[in-house]
Amino acid sequence: MIQIKVFYVNELRVCCYLLWDETKETVLVDPGCYSFSEQERLIKFIDREKLRPLCVVNTHAHFDHVMGNAFVCRTYKIKTYIHPKEQSALEYADKYCRVFGMEIEKPPIDTLPLGEAEPLTFGYSALQVLETPGHSPGGICLYAPHSNLQTPVGNLSALHSNLSASADHLSSLHSNPHASADHLSSPHSNPHASADNLSAPQDGFLITGDTLFAGSIGRTDLPGGDYNQLIASIQTKLFPLDDSLRILPGHGPESTLGYERLHNPFLVPNPRGTYL
Ligand SMILES: [Zn+2]
Ligand SMILES: [Zn+2]
Repeated sequence: MIQIKVFYVNELRVCCYLLWDETKETVLVDPGCYSFSEQERLIKFIDREKLRPLCVVNTHAHFDHVMGNAFVCRTYKIKTYIHPKEQSALEYADKYCRVFGMEIEKPPIDTLPLGEAEPLTFGYSALQVLETPGHSPGGICLYAPHSNLQTPVGNLSALHSNLSASADHLSSLHSNPHASADHLSSPHSNPHASADNLSAPQDGFLITGDTLFAGSIGRTDLPGGDYNQLIASIQTKLFPLDDSLRILPGHGPESTLGYERLHNPFLVPNPRGTYL
């Protein structure tokens, strides 16, 4: 079962997520730690929980999400997974930072490719990569279905074939009549959720980077941004998924897909059939 811990890092309050399972193999998503104290907090948590960092994953290469890549990769001798269309932005991230008066160590550029063709696997777990361009050309989301859809430990190839199913198929899988009420309940009502860790382990979730926020969407006025593409990404890649999925965004509080579908002003068409 996947556990999640969030750290809010740097002045832009990026959500850096740590994901791990029973094996303690850990994925660090968007380690934007900038200050020494942020780095120390991350290391102390990893030590205390006896986690074993496996890789960094960047949802995209904007500087606030990659500020700590060099530190984390060096400390744990690990590499970064990122979509190939983000590679050039990654290579310029340190220069971009300087424009805002911040000095960072250049993120390692010997990256590994991340895309929809392959799930991201760690320990006994796997996450589906969803390509959601619009905020940036190679932006991705990480999708973990509800655990009642996950394959028993050790059978990742079967999970892989589930993950390759069409969005429609996934959505019908989510209405599995065998799902227990627990799987649909709010994480806050789960007695096993600890104060430290964000998630009840059985929750399905979607890490959305800067594609989708609680009540908003990512900006599209930066280089490579495209508003229509972002809306299309959300509608075609995210909306077919289950309403009860928890949304864990790149900034700000979490939400659920169902809540955003109904209330996010950027995603609810107005009476003229257009969007905000
Ligand atoms: Zn961004
Ligand atoms: Zn951001």
